[in-house]
Amino acid sequence: MGKEYRNWSLKQWAQMFEDIYGARNKEKTNEEILGHIFEETGRLLDPLGKSLESPEKVKEKLPDILINIPDIFAWHSAFSSRFGDLDDFLWSKFPNVCPYCVVEDNCDCISQSKMYSEEKEFKLINLRNDTKNKPKTMYDWQEMFRRIYGNVNKKQSLLILGLHLNEEVGEASKEFRLLKRARKTGEDIEKREKDLENELADIFAWLVGVTINCENFTDKELRLDDIIWDRYANKCPHCEYKPCIETCSKNGYNA
Ligand SMILES: [Zn+2]
Ligand SMILES: [Zn+2]
Repeated sequence: MGKEYRNWSLKQWAQMFEDIYGARNKEKTNEEILGHIFEETGRLLDPLGKSLESPEKVKEKLPDILINIPDIFAWHSAFSSRFGDLDDFLWSKFPNVCPYCVVEDNCDCISQSKMYSEEKEFKLINLRNDTKNKPKTMYDWQEMFRRIYGNVNKKQSLLILGLHLNEEVGEASKEFRLLKRARKTGEDIEKREKDLENELADIFAWLVGVTINCENFTDKELRLDDIIWDRYANKCPHCEYKPCIETCSKNGYNA
């Protein structure tokens, strides 16, 4: 196989992970999958923290980071798929613009207050309906985020981005808890689903941010699709099978 995966939609990526891990994940609760996302995003903070020491230290850890990022995506994909399509979540939250300042490129609203207004919401609704601008492949999404947030992503410290990513996982976890409660009481279910979907979109956005910032520590472009494929080339990296086999637990997956 060449680089066909570069043409894949996020749905196709989700399908690849479903084919590898779907059967094994079936027995896992949502909380367990969420726990794995926490585990992997938490683990990422150690190598990202090297940015407090020196660029050289980050460079040394880059191979670990480039394994960790796909692992986060794999679990995020497993979790998101239980609620719908990630690209729908992304487009709803980021319809080709920063949803807070509604600019198409070089947002620098990161430190400003992130308030929705009715006027902004109206613009966002129109943008969402304009689906011809909707990114198709993972790289298209990465490039959309690069256009909007690439400059701030590159200027930020790598550790700060990792902390934001962890914060988003926490927020998704909260929204998941509230959704669960809503499903029990039958109140506000749709709103809660939407809130969770937004947080899942945020996790992906920050994961892209981390990836883009890592380019400060290498002389090549880091494509999220290549990074994920290098780790999961249509098979489980631990047992090397698709689907992942039941005895595959020693090396991390399901450990
Ligand atoms: Zn903005
Ligand atoms: Zn396996």
